[in-house]
Amino acid sequence: MIDDIVGVDGQRVHMLHDGASGLHGAIVIDSVKLGPAAGGCRLWHYADDAALLSDARRLARGMSYKNALAGLPFGGGKAVIARPSGAFDRAALFAAFGRAVAALDGAYITAEDVGTTIADMDMVRARTSYVAGLNHSGANAGGDPSPWTALGVFEGMKAAVAFGHDSGVGGGTLRGKRVAVQGAGNVGAGLARLLAAEGAELVIADIDEARAAMLAAELGARVAGADEILTIDADVLAPCALGGVLNARSIPLLRVGVVCGGANNQLATTADGEALRARGIIYAPDYVVNAGGIINVAAEYLGEATSAVHQRIMGIGGRLRGILAEARLAALPAGEVADAMARQIIAGV
Ligand code: NAD
Repeated sequence: MIDDIVGVDGQRVHMLHDGASGLHGAIVIDSVKLGPAAGGCRLWHYADDAALLSDARRLARGMSYKNALAGLPFGGGKAVIARPSGAFDRAALFAAFGRAVAALDGAYITAEDVGTTIADMDMVRARTSYVAGLNHSGANAGGDPSPWTALGVFEGMKAAVAFGHDSGVGGGTLRGKRVAVQGAGNVGAGLARLLAAEGAELVIADIDEARAAMLAAELGARVAGADEILTIDADVLAPCALGGVLNARSIPLLRVGVVCGGANNQLATTADGEALRARGIIYAPDYVVNAGGIINVAAEYLGEATSAVHQRIMGIGGRLRGILAEARLAALPAGEVADAMARQIIAGV
C-alpha cells in the first residue's frame, strides 16, 4: 500500500497506492520536531504525480509553520489524494487511506481539507485513531474545522484593517468595508456570514456560480465572476479558494488595501510577497490567519474543550499585528517575517 518512502529536502514523502479502492496519493511529513505531523487530507484533481507531490510538499511545509506559530504541540504534514476519474467508492477509498495513516504509526495525524468531509474522516477512524475532525457532541472540541478557520480569518482581517488605518490595538471594525470573497465553500461562506453580521459590504465569486449566487442571496451580497473577483475595487480581498492566486499576473491588477483570506499557499512564489509590499498592500500571511481549523483539530485530538479553541483563535489578531508591525519596521514582506518566526520556534530558539 505504501510503496515508496523518499526523503526530499528534509521531508518524508510516502506514496500511496491501492488498486482495489483506487487510492493514489501521498502523505508528506515535513517536520516532527514539535510533535506528530498534523495536517488535513485533500482530495483533488491533479494533472500528474509531479503536480500532486508539489502541492502536498508545499502544503506540508505550510502546516509546520502554521502549527508552530499557533503554539500547537504538533509538527507539519499533509495528505493529498488524486480524485479518481468517474464514479468511485468513497467509503473504500477512505478506508484504504485510513490503513495508510495507521501504517505510519502516529507520525502523521489527518483531518479534513479541500474535497474531504466529516463522513470521510469517520471512515478513516474505523481504521486508525490518528485522525480528528470527526462528528462530536458535548463541550469537547471536534467536528468540522471550517467554521473555526473562518472565525480566525475574520479576527485576522479586523486586525489587518485596523493596522492599515493605524487605529491601534483591539482590532478594527469591518462595518461598511467592502470585502471581495473568492470561493463560497466551507471557509468562504463561513467568513462571508461573519462579515455580513458585522455589516460589511460583500462581493462573492465562485467557479460554481450557483453556489456563489445562493450565498449572495442569503446575505444580500453582490456576485462577481470568478474571473473578475481579483480585480474588484474593495477594502479587502479574501482568497478562500485554492492556492497561487497572488502572482505576477494578478498582483498588478489588485485594487484593495488588504489581502486576508483562508486559502492555503496564496502566494505563487515568495517574490510575490515582495511585490505586494512594493504596492503597499497589507498581506496577512495565510497560515497565520487560517490556523483556526487546525487549532480545533488539535484540541479535538488532545481532548480539550471548545472554550480553549475559542480562546486560542482570539489570539490570531494580536499575532498578526505583531508580524505586520515587525515587517513594517524591517521593510520586509509579512510572509518572510512569519516564516522566520516559525522556523525559530521549530528550531527551539
Ligand atoms: P471548499 O472546497 O469547501 O471550498 C472551496 C471553494 O472554492 C469551492 O466552492 C470552489 O468551487 C471554489 N473555487 C475553486 N477555485 C475557484 C476560483 N478560481 N475562483 C472562485 N472560486 C473557486 O474548501 P474550504 O474548506 O472552504 O477551503 C478553502 C481554502 O481554505 C483551501 O485553500 C483550504 O486549503 C484552505 N483552508 C481550509 C481550512 C478548513 O478548515 N476547511 C483550514 C485552513 C485552510
